[in-house]
Amino acid sequence: MFKNQEMMERDLRHVWHPCTQMKDHERLPIIPIKNAKGVYLYDFEENSYIDAISSWWVNIFGHCNSYINSKVKEQLDSLEHVIMAGFSHEQVIRLSERLVKLTPEGLNRCFFADNGSSAVEIALKMSFHAHKNRGEIRPLFVSLENSYHGETLGALAVGDVKLYKETYEDVIIKTLQTPIPKGGEDDDIFEALEALEDIFYENEGKISAFIVEPLLQCAGGMRIYPEKYLNLARNLCKKYNIYFIADEVATGFGRTGEMFACNRADITPDFLCLSKALTGGYLPLSVVLSTEEVYEAFYAEYLEFKAFLHSHSFTGNPLACAAANATLDIFESENIIEKNREKSFYIEGKLNSLRAFKNIENIRSIGMVSAFDLKGYRFEDRMGLKLYELGLKRGVLIRPLGNTIYFMPPYVIKESEIDKVFSLIEEFLKSL
Ligand SMILES: *Cc1c(COP(=O)(O)O)cnc(C)c1O
Repeated sequence: MFKNQEMMERDLRHVWHPCTQMKDHERLPIIPIKNAKGVYLYDFEENSYIDAISSWWVNIFGHCNSYINSKVKEQLDSLEHVIMAGFSHEQVIRLSERLVKLTPEGLNRCFFADNGSSAVEIALKMSFHAHKNRGEIRPLFVSLENSYHGETLGALAVGDVKLYKETYEDVIIKTLQTPIPKGGEDDDIFEALEALEDIFYENEGKISAFIVEPLLQCAGGMRIYPEKYLNLARNLCKKYNIYFIADEVATGFGRTGEMFACNRADITPDFLCLSKALTGGYLPLSVVLSTEEVYEAFYAEYLEFKAFLHSHSFTGNPLACAAANATLDIFESENIIEKNREKSFYIEGKLNSLRAFKNIENIRSIGMVSAFDLKGYRFEDRMGLKLYELGLKRGVLIRPLGNTIYFMPPYVIKESEIDKVFSLIEEFLKSL
């Protein structure tokens, strides 16, 4: 028996895969990965796959990066984990110092967790709780239409992707959604801001926070919206004393061309959620940065019961923090943001060459993310799945979101590898 086949059969006996209708795997193979290096994943039969989606948007400096590996191994021999209540360790202290320096001015306090959804839960709870500690009960949250903030119940509640949310409508808290600007013109921006202000005005004193994926809605189909909207929405939040939560779980660490999307919009949020690329995509870790003002709302005598009594077992795990510190070392020593500009430019060139195809629309890109939509297909056609399957045959891992095809590679991808991904896409588009 082939090794892949054997692994797949063992897998399907017990493993329940995420975001998957398992019945699909009666036909669709599970690809067991034996090892990986750089942008390449290798299965048990020496087939290689270019990881064109950074293993779900987390990996930025390649798999088994020798520098990050060495730092995690070093940490492993001194401390693997320790409780973060009452205790601390050097990696988490150093990481917090560096994050405070790197992120927009004013974010001073780092609360750690171990995944993106938890970071969103924390930001939502903290924003509600900060108001409450000041004597105001504000039970509502506002988010953008088409947003995605993770899949735990609180995160789903502020999300707006039907596919994930609809089933659970009966058990999630009520939230309000506001439109993103239809386009990049000032009229579009002001129309969306007016809708936002209407919500703020009609629910005055009842909204704890407004949460956004700044500039780029990822899971909602790689939709980009203008910086100016963010900047002005941030001001509106100040006006109504509503906290502004920037969920940069996906956009953080260079994806949109700056270290953080908030930098591009020139804003400081009240809460900044980071995860995914924080550890270079190595280990589960997330962090919510917040301001001194928020921190102080919780600072009191124990028996005033104002503390944020939220915890996760693996909060601030030392191995994960070591991977995060190593990741930040690479950003510092290799001038990554600058280097990515050349790479984005190259990718944009390839993307533009697709304009000749009549069956696609909405070609767009920002930083190290590019996308377009297939034109004239229905959800049921599962066109994305067809490209995914062709990709496996051609040695590329690409995983479209419905009819949205996107490219979101590790930053270490080379031009020849970018070419290979785009020739796969061209072959697919020609076949339609
Ligand atoms: C992926 C993602 C999350 C959820 O993170 P998990 O680690 O998958 O729980 C939250 N917000 C955004 C914007 C994301 O892209």
